[in-house]
Amino acid sequence: MAGNPVIREILNRYVPVWALGHSMSVLGWDTETHMPVKGAQPRGVASGQLAMMSQRATIELDGLVRKAEKAADLGDREAGIVRVLRRSIDYYLKVPPEMVDELQRVTTEATVAWRSARKRSDFGMFRPHLEKIVALEREIANKIGYERHPYNALLDLYEEGFTVREADAVYAKLIPESKRLLKRVASAGVYPTKHPLESARYDTGAMLKVNEEALKLLKMPMDRFRMDVSTHPFTTQIAQDDVRITTRYEGKDFRASLYGTIHESGHAIYGLGISKALAYSPLGDGASYGVHESQSRFWENVVGRSVEFVELIDPTLKKYLPFVKGYDTAQLYFYINTVRKSLIRVDADELTYNFHTAVRYDIEKKVIAGEAKVAEIPSLWNDTFEEYLGMRPKNDAEGALQDVHWSGGSFGYFATYTLGNVIAAMIWHKMKDGALVHEALRKGDVTELKNWLGKNIHRYGATYSPKQLQEKAFGESYNPERLLAYFEQKYLP
Ligand code: MG
Repeated sequence: MAGNPVIREILNRYVPVWALGHSMSVLGWDTETHMPVKGAQPRGVASGQLAMMSQRATIELDGLVRKAEKAADLGDREAGIVRVLRRSIDYYLKVPPEMVDELQRVTTEATVAWRSARKRSDFGMFRPHLEKIVALEREIANKIGYERHPYNALLDLYEEGFTVREADAVYAKLIPESKRLLKRVASAGVYPTKHPLESARYDTGAMLKVNEEALKLLKMPMDRFRMDVSTHPFTTQIAQDDVRITTRYEGKDFRASLYGTIHESGHAIYGLGISKALAYSPLGDGASYGVHESQSRFWENVVGRSVEFVELIDPTLKKYLPFVKGYDTAQLYFYINTVRKSLIRVDADELTYNFHTAVRYDIEKKVIAGEAKVAEIPSLWNDTFEEYLGMRPKNDAEGALQDVHWSGGSFGYFATYTLGNVIAAMIWHKMKDGALVHEALRKGDVTELKNWLGKNIHRYGATYSPKQLQEKAFGESYNPERLLAYFEQKYLP
């Protein structure tokens, strides 16, 4: 991969770091899928030890990376290796291990407290924990360092180089335009707000068959991929040739299980498409959270919720789910594409989803800057929600307590969901405003779509920063206009 001798040495010394990451991924996957409950404690100890070993081994590369930074004319991959390693070394050097330990301890307790607080819908129970977490996050932002806004330090952890200024610009466009669009879609009256299939109960074994057929339509390579079950679906890339997803079966409203499967498959297709030449290197991962989410959203929404895909999956649905038989393809399409304002993010459709992340982004930005107190979060939440969607949560369980993220210390994460939606629509735009998607699906073959994504995005792994990658693939980055254009084409007659 590398001609530069220093980079070659870095790559040799990186293999143990990769092996530790590989092991932690297998443990993480097992924790969520097969581990008995009582395995949690020793699993925590083992994972903590491996994480520390990995940190140490990464920091030890500092000298070599410094040397490489002085080298002239590095190739793109070599420069990528230096960039990615510099980011993790700096993080480990700037944020002291005691602080990481403390965050770990505080968030473990906070997650337990959050669960009962949500059950009782009592923000006050969670508040002292969240105050500790916010204080730590603010300290971490200071240790990392930032320009202009402390929240920039945290955004950058999930989306390299992404700033408050850019996020503000994305939302300033997306929020008012989506409000207008939503009104027009409602008055057009084509897309329903509810569908009777939402309450139809399914048999889990039959639903598994449906999901397996969906994997076939997506041409998932079953010798490099597998699917299991977990409460919260996720994807993990254990190696270049070992990518795993999970899905869930709640017993009714089958689109949740099917589109969860397609969403995670989108993440998996990314991982499986990264060039084999990047195996065992720091570049064998996706470019960022936003870019990763764009892949899952592309397959879930742009591909999966299209008329043509519904036509492709229709016979499978009718074969395994007897209650679907009375519905034609058009009716199924509208079940899969209901448009309804809701209070809960994970239930939101494409058109309303970004309001949910905007509420959280706004609150995070304010508390991290010290412009709002944790105690004010519920009222900030409810007021902003009312302004955006014209509905007000009745209690904190359906308001500020609904997500696990804050209890885990994930400040800076929510915006990347919307970046995923935006970048997915940039892909749609590049694919001739969706024409390539519809053509491929009419032929019943997604290979061309996979090839396009592989060539323009997947194969590079983390070689380029998310912005560099977007400029290369689209000639622009984080452009919310594309998402609005996609919405208009799909939802307005
Ligand atoms: Mg995802």
